[in-house]
Amino acid sequence: MAIRQIRLQGDEMLNKKARTVTTITPSMHDLLDDMLETMRAKDAVGLAAPQVGVLKRIVVVEFDDALYELINPEILETDGTQVSNEACLSVPGRSGDIERPFEVTVKAQNRHGEEYTIHADEFLASAICHELDHLEGKLFLETATNVQFITNEQAAARRKMHRNRRERRLRR
Ligand code: ZN
Repeated sequence: MAIRQIRLQGDEMLNKKARTVTTITPSMHDLLDDMLETMRAKDAVGLAAPQVGVLKRIVVVEFDDALYELINPEILETDGTQVSNEACLSVPGRSGDIERPFEVTVKAQNRHGEEYTIHADEFLASAICHELDHLEGKLFLETATNVQFITNEQAAARRKMHRNRRERRLRR
């Protein structure tokens, strides 16, 4: 396993649509392991493959002691809305508000190619939507409102807080 370098806003990789995974190869298992290690090293809740320079539809999300490896994720259903205050490893120094579904049902494959479905709400729903946007080449900052400058320390503290799942989301 290895910690991979995070691509930052301005890198064209972050604005491209990621490609569907047709065959899950051993190198993709290495990629998933590296993404997991990188996400944990940065205390992040999620990471998308384009953020480490791989233009494939692969995302990892870890929240509430559960790890989700999502290959070719697809949103099946959404319900409600919430305003999510977000930040991103690829957009250091900024946070902002973005409207997300309050609940999502997502279908994906795991690393063994088995299809499964996740039902998520509140913070996990917004985190999954944030990562799925990366697969479309979209950064939260492009549509965020109430954008604030945050220091590296504040950003790190936010990520720790989310990993410790203390923050609750407001239903709107
Ligand atoms: Zn992000």
